[in-house]
Parts: sequence; structure tokens; C-alpha cells
Amino acid sequence: MYAVTMKARATVFTLLSILAIAGCTHTQDKTEEHPPVTIPTVESSQSVPSPEPVTHVTAIPAKSIALTFDDGPSEYTDRILDILEEEDVPATFFVIGSQVTPDQYPTLKRMSGDGMEIAAHTWSHADLSHSSDNTVKNELDKTSEAIKQVTGDPTTCYRPPYGATSPRVRSLAEDQGYTTEQLWGIDSEDWQLPGADKIFKNATQSADTPESPSVLLMHDGGGPREQTLEALPRIIQYYKDHGYTFTVSCL
Ligand SMILES: [Zn+2]
Repeated sequence: MYAVTMKARATVFTLLSILAIAGCTHTQDKTEEHPPVTIPTVESSQSVPSPEPVTHVTAIPAKSIALTFDDGPSEYTDRILDILEEEDVPATFFVIGSQVTPDQYPTLKRMSGDGMEIAAHTWSHADLSHSSDNTVKNELDKTSEAIKQVTGDPTTCYRPPYGATSPRVRSLAEDQGYTTEQLWGIDSEDWQLPGADKIFKNATQSADTPESPSVLLMHDGGGPREQTLEALPRIIQYYKDHGYTFTVSCL
């Protein structure tokens, strides 16, 4: 079994980003996430600001990989969980609060029971960097409450949609009780639906520098996820074969 420490550090607001990892040359255009299907307006990548540089704190051990899934829960989430259970590896799910509806409660309870991390991805997939202070607070607070209502525990970890953040956003998040802002270092770009082979390649190419721990961005919602489901067992097998430890990202 994997060892997962779920206890978030409550006293230090840890800013986690692995965008600073050597060799990571993503531009914001390339790291853009696909908005959830429930949001009718598809923002162009040009309209999304580049994220502010944030302090890089290596919170996961060397040669570790943290699988993360954004934009759920959705009809695909249980199938993702099937694979994770089969492979006996943990992951972090950054959920959209408005999608935590009663029909998804069993899925979230299953996540929690499996030892998965459940964290916030805002209430409506909002660009927090362009939102008012009140909106930022509501987006984060309502999502944490929605998670707490199902699992009994509020989350202290969030991922800003599009990676769009700022010192103001982080300060407001801290006011709402969040201790960790988690971005990512490897973008599978599954939201672009490039095919399972390309998703696998994107998800593993950064493993050429195996001493760098990293966080892998994937999606369990926001669009059709069959390609992600097809690529996921191969991605997990790759990291197992290369001696990686699977961890969670909001430690
Ligand atoms: Zn997202």
C-alpha cells in the first residue's frame, strides 16, 4: 500500500508550484485548461493572464509522481477511480464545487474512502485572478463547504483554474482557511483530446529527469475523457516501471 499523509499543514501557507522545475518550458497557452462543460463560454487562451511566479517549495519527495485530476466530478470519475483502485495508487481530485451535486456524493465518498485527496478547483471554474475579492472568497469557500458536506472535512488545498493566480488570490485564499495552492509541472494536455498515445507521451516526457518530483495534470471532467481513461493505466505503469513513488500533491 502507498503511504499517504493527508494532514495538511495548518500553520504555514505553502505555495506549491513546480512550474519552476528545470526543463519546464510551458507557456500559459500550452498549460491552459479546458473549461468544464457546464460553463458555456470558452475562454480563448489569449484572454487568460499568465500566472504570477510563485515560490517553489518541493513538498513531495524526489522521484515521486502526483497524479491530479481537474474539472470533476463527472460521469467519468468512477471509471478513473476504478483504474486507481486496480493499480493501488493515490491521486488528488480538484473538484468544481457546483458539480458536487447529490448524484455525485457516492463518488466523492468513494474517493474519500479510497484515501484520495479531494481539493478545490473553485465553484464555477472562475478565473480568480480577474475576479473581485468577494467572488474569490465565495468561489473557494462554497467549494470547501460542498466538499465538507459530503466527506465531513473541508479542504485546505486549491488549484486555481487556468493556473491564474496572484498574491491577492493567495492572500484571500489564506483568509478562507486554505494553506496550499497547488499548480502542476507536467501537463498531459488531455483536455485537447490529442489521443491516448499523445497523452501518454505528454505525461511521461518530463520523466527524463527522474530526480525531479512532479505533479501531473489530467482531467476527469470538462469534456469527453475516454482518451484519458485509455492512457491512464499506461501512464501509471510507466512510472511504476521507472521506480517512482506515487504520492498526493497537497501534502
Ligand atoms: Zn480546470
